[in-house]
This record gives sequence, C-alpha cells and structure tokens, in this order.
Amino acid sequence: MEPKQPKKIIPKKTPIPEQDPAIRRKNFEEVALGYSTEQALLEASRCMQCKKPFCVTGCPVGVPIPRFIKAVHDKDFSRAIGIIKEANLLPAVCGRVCPQESQCEKLCILAKKHDPVGIGRLERFIADWERKQGDGTLPDIAPATGRKIAIVGSGPSGLTCAYDLAKLGHSVTIYEALHEPGGVLIYGIPEFRLPKAIVAREINLLKRMGVTIITNAVIGKLITIDELMLEYDACYIGTGAGLPRFMNIPGENLNGVYSANEFLTRINLMRAYQFPEFDTPVKKGGHVVVVGGGNVAMDSARTALRLGAETVTMVYRRSLAELPARKEEVHHAQEEGIVFELCTNPVRILGDKDGNVSAVESVRMDLCELDESGRKKPKPVAGSEFTIPANVVIIAVGTGANPLIAQSTKDLSVTRHKYIVADEETGKTSMQGVYAGGDIVTGAATVISAMGAGRKAAKAIHEYMKQASVKR
Ligand code: FAD
Repeated sequence: MEPKQPKKIIPKKTPIPEQDPAIRRKNFEEVALGYSTEQALLEASRCMQCKKPFCVTGCPVGVPIPRFIKAVHDKDFSRAIGIIKEANLLPAVCGRVCPQESQCEKLCILAKKHDPVGIGRLERFIADWERKQGDGTLPDIAPATGRKIAIVGSGPSGLTCAYDLAKLGHSVTIYEALHEPGGVLIYGIPEFRLPKAIVAREINLLKRMGVTIITNAVIGKLITIDELMLEYDACYIGTGAGLPRFMNIPGENLNGVYSANEFLTRINLMRAYQFPEFDTPVKKGGHVVVVGGGNVAMDSARTALRLGAETVTMVYRRSLAELPARKEEVHHAQEEGIVFELCTNPVRILGDKDGNVSAVESVRMDLCELDESGRKKPKPVAGSEFTIPANVVIIAVGTGANPLIAQSTKDLSVTRHKYIVADEETGKTSMQGVYAGGDIVTGAATVISAMGAGRKAAKAIHEYMKQASVKR
C-alpha cells in the first residue's frame, strides 16, 4: 500500500475581497464582500480536520467547526449550514463580527506556524449562500411542552436563548424596549459591518419558529419581572450594558458632544444615514474627535467619516498595541484615513460663544509600570497639553448596566454597579425561575459570549421546566 502523503499546507489565509478604501469611506455598503465559491473551497481545503478540534473549544456556542468545513470542502453547502445551525442561530452575524482572532481561530492548529483557517469567513460564506437560496430551512422543533418562557431583551443573548428554548418545544415571548429587535446588532454595529437586512432575516427565522417578539416594551416600567413571573414559568434577562459612560471632564454638555451609543443609535436604528428618507437629526461634517479605542469607538469614527467629516481623529490613552478593537477594524480604519492620536487623553472640551463644541484639549500620556490588568498604566506628561479642533465629539469610553430592572426587582441580586449576579454555567439568579446572561451579567463583552450565555441558560431553563415543582 502507498504511504499516505502528508497534507500540503497552504500557509496564508485566502484573502477576502473588500471595497476599495477610497470608495467605501464615502458609503455605508459592506466593507468585506465575502468569498466566492472558489475562494471558499480553497480556504476549506486548508482545514486539517483535527481529531481533537481545539477551535471548537474556542467557540462559546460550540459550533462543530471541522464538520461544517468538511461539508464546505465536499461542496455540500446545505449540509454545512445545517451543521452550523445545530449551535448557532446567527451565522451571518457571527461570520461578520466575531473576534475570531481571539476565539476559534486563535486555537486553530495551523496558527502555531501559519495563518489559521478563516473560520469566520467560511461561516459567513455558508450563511450568505443560504440567504441566496431563499428563506432557509427551519430547525427540527420538539412537540409543544405547554411551558411559557419570557425573555427580556432581544440582543444576541436573548435571541439565542429563545432559539434553543423554541427548538425544545417551549412557548417563547421576547420583550424588547426598542421598536426593532436585535440589540446592539441593530442599534450599535453599523451597516457597513453588519447589514441590518441580514440581522432582520436571522431574527425572522425565530418568528417563523413561533417565537413572539413584543417591541416597545420596557420591562421594569411597563411590566415588572415579578409580574412576568406570574404569567410565565421562567424568565431570561438579557438586557445588555447600554448605559453610556462619560469622562466627567468640563465641556461634556456642549452642543455636538455625543455618547457613542446615542450617535450610533441615531444613525443605525433611526437611519440618520438615509437622510432625507429618514429625517433623524445628527451633527455631521467638519472635524470629528472620537474618544476611546474599542470596537464602539472604531465604529463611531468610521461612521462619522462616511457621514462626510473632513477629518476624524481618534484619541486613545494607550498605544496601538493596546487598542482593544478588533485588529481587522483597526486596519480598515487606518486604510480609510482615520487619524490616531495615541497615548493621548482629553482633559476638557472647549466651546464657542453659542455653546457649540469647538476643540478638545488633550494631554500626552506616558506608558509606565503595569497596572492590575497587566497593561501599562498611562500617566499624564506635565505641560504637554494641546488642542484638536472639533465640531463633533463622540465619547466611547465604555458603558454600564441599565439600572431599571435592578431597581424594580427587589429580590434580584445585583452588583454594586447594577449588573445582575448569575451563575456562570446556568445563568441562575437569586430568584427562582429567573435567569440572566450576556452583557448585563458580564459587562460589555462580545456577541458570541452573550450568545454562549443564552445557550447555557436555555439548557438550564429546560432542566428546570422538567422539575415537578414547576409543574402547573
Ligand atoms: P444587547 O445586544 O445590548 O441587547 C440587549 C437588548 O435588551 C437591547 O435590545 C435593549 O434595548 C434591550 N433592553 C434593555 N433594557 C430593557 C428592558 N428594561 N426591557 C426590555 N428590553 C430591554 N461584539 C463583537 O463580538 N464583535 C463586534 O464587532 C462588536 N462590535 C460592537 C460595536 C458596538 C457599537 C457595540 C455597542 C458593541 C459591539 N460589540 C461587538 C459587543 C456586542 O455587541 C455585545 O457584547 C452584545 O451585543 C451583547 O449582547 P446582549 O444580548 O447581552 O445585549
């Protein structure tokens, strides 16, 4: 018998076609265009089909990665999407926005010496292929259990919890405060990274599975968690961490200063970028300064650019190496001409006689000894103040928990900062039958970690439903 030839490794990831930076900086269309079939087949051929796939352990929802990539390699795209959907309701979303470089792809065996397999790009390819075929097939749904479960919040965490519970035959109702479901996927992440029609389609699958979504329903105001528990057998809280934080420096109340959340919500949810079709006001053009260095800051900067800003400057207090945003997004922002003022921190915002913002005064920072997080501590350099002209300032320095549910639910244990205390493995809270997960438990994190929490809680709620004590 011929000895088996070792697989020839292609060291580089198949590049993904993208819009030219000079063109895309002026439009809201998607930056990355997705793989062609040939490119996807080439990339799938790089997967080693490991017997012990570490990539799967790096995925918080446990997508069977080698199995779906094998199906792509076999050109059986319908089998590939079926495999992904065993674990993930939102493959078109995750294929676009997951930080694969710090999750599944980080653990890919190829990454030790070469580029990892482009798992996210393949996931996106398959999800986009399915979309072109029509509505997509529904997963198998177990016979109705007669159990009713309420989900509060329709971000990725609530949606995933709803998906798994609906598959198990439970009757699920989602309550959402905004007028459109999707959470950050709809109001935060901009169209050029995640088209809203794609999010809506993935949510529509849930509706086709029989899940009810009630929008404009602010739990804690309209109905309380205690009242929901009178009507439902269990409840999952996935309300996110959307409360904007400010820096508490002088000038933050000037006209033209926005929290990133408000700025992005006006543009994405309220469609200000489609003016005059949608007449949501937002200040645009001129010089824009964005404070922060995460995904939210990066999205705000690139959105401001597309709205017609003359210059967009990002002010971040640490160095490029510490920027918390996804590497790909930083690279895209640089290509598009965003200016990075690194190791710089704003000390006050200056205004004109009419109360409009006119500049940001900043100070240079020195990175010295490591802090508790293991990062270098930024320290102001005395006498290094300078000003950056600004007509719009966007503050993206983090968010906190919305306190509404904490304030209106007396038996729910919350932390000092109003995050809900929940078991990491089950999402169980201090109240019987009430579960929680996603950013409202962990603080601002990622789409896939919020989805992972939704999955774990769905499993735990299903177990809870089987207990005699909750039998009606
Ligand atoms: P959310 O997505 O915040 O959803 C919570 C939902 O609950 C919202 O719809 C909210 O309106 C609703 N709600 C709140 N209070 C109530 C109430 N009282 N009653 C009813 N409904 C309520 N992560 C990534 O992995 N990759 C990225 O590229 C990325 N980019 C990001 C860009 C931006 C601009 C932002 C803001 C975040 C980004 N993130 C990214 C983080 C990620 O989006 C979040 O971690 C994730 O959405 C959290 O999911 P969630 O379901 O816990 O909460």
